[in-house]
Amino acid sequence: MSTVVRAAAGEGPCGSRARPSPALEVCPVVSNTRLAPATYRLRFFSPSISRSAIPGRFLHIDCRALPGARRPILRRPFSVSDADAGLGWADVVYRVVGPGTEWLSSVGPGESVDVLGPLGNGFSLPRRRGAVLIVSGGIGIAPLLGWARRLTGAGHRVHALVGARTRDSLVGLDYLSSAGAATTACTDDGSVGFKGTVCELLHPVLRRVAPIQVYACGPSPVLRAVQSAALALDIPCEISVEDRIACGIGACVGCAVPKRHPSAGSAYFRACADGPVFNAADVAIQGDEVTPS
Ligand SMILES: Cc1cc2nc3c(=O)[nH]c(=O)nc-3n(C[C@H](O)[C@H](O)[C@H](O)COP(=O)(O)OP(=O)(O)OC[C@H]3O[C@@H](n4cnc5c(N)ncnc54)[C@H](O)[C@@H]3O)c2cc1C
Repeated sequence: MSTVVRAAAGEGPCGSRARPSPALEVCPVVSNTRLAPATYRLRFFSPSISRSAIPGRFLHIDCRALPGARRPILRRPFSVSDADAGLGWADVVYRVVGPGTEWLSSVGPGESVDVLGPLGNGFSLPRRRGAVLIVSGGIGIAPLLGWARRLTGAGHRVHALVGARTRDSLVGLDYLSSAGAATTACTDDGSVGFKGTVCELLHPVLRRVAPIQVYACGPSPVLRAVQSAALALDIPCEISVEDRIACGIGACVGCAVPKRHPSAGSAYFRACADGPVFNAADVAIQGDEVTPS
């Protein structure tokens, strides 16, 4: 059932970690659980994918089973949220925003999903033990759930600053708490936690937690705020960008991310092949658009 794809993702500046060739596999769905009104967690079974599914890497899922004119041509990228190599499953946590994700929300046990991956890089562990801060906005929480679990498992103290528009789009708090992470929640409307965005709480939380490393995923304004604070305070920081991705293997260059310090060779990274996780010191974050939330 499993086919190994020969076109491995390219190695970029953040690509020093070993990346086994991605698999192209039709994977049985274990569950597809509704976490919030438009947010689901899809768990599928694939021992080979689960072995190299580091949170932050992504899975390119074929949503073309959708009939008719709304059938997407391209696969859709989703971050690995968590995986268990022992049990052979991998999770994606996704928000329904269009035809592909709408179709994905309709699959269930007894059905299967066609997955290419894992692709790209993933987050990397801090060099020493200490307090770590993870910051998410909206569905940017997805890759940080499993990453929080791995960080606490490796002996780090994890604090999560989690933002969403409303109670209905805030997910993962139980998961973070069961992973042993301390969590501060914010919603734009104040329906849960602090009323406001993670950007407003960032500096007080950074002072309180004094992290040795920061990880972030979310809309551009969140990534820019985290990047600027981490660089100013000289704290190592990895951010996961969610720019649109087409081919997923670095061939089409449709997911160019500008470098902060353009080199003679190129002014851009490819989000799919050089990322999607970047050292915050390396990338220029563009755009004000909010990722689907
Ligand atoms: C590396 C990566 C990891 C991702 N991980 C996740 C994840 O874990 N969970 C999740 O819910 N989503 C994630 N996304 C976004 C996800 O890929 C899109 O939501 C999905 O492709 C939408 O497909 P669709 O056919 O349902 O909607 P489409 O019809 O393709 O899009 C619906 C709407 O969402 C907008 N949109 C689609 N993709 C993006 C994007 N990347 N950035 C901003 N706006 C977009 C479109 O402009 C449109 O308005 C990720 C994207 C990338 C690049």
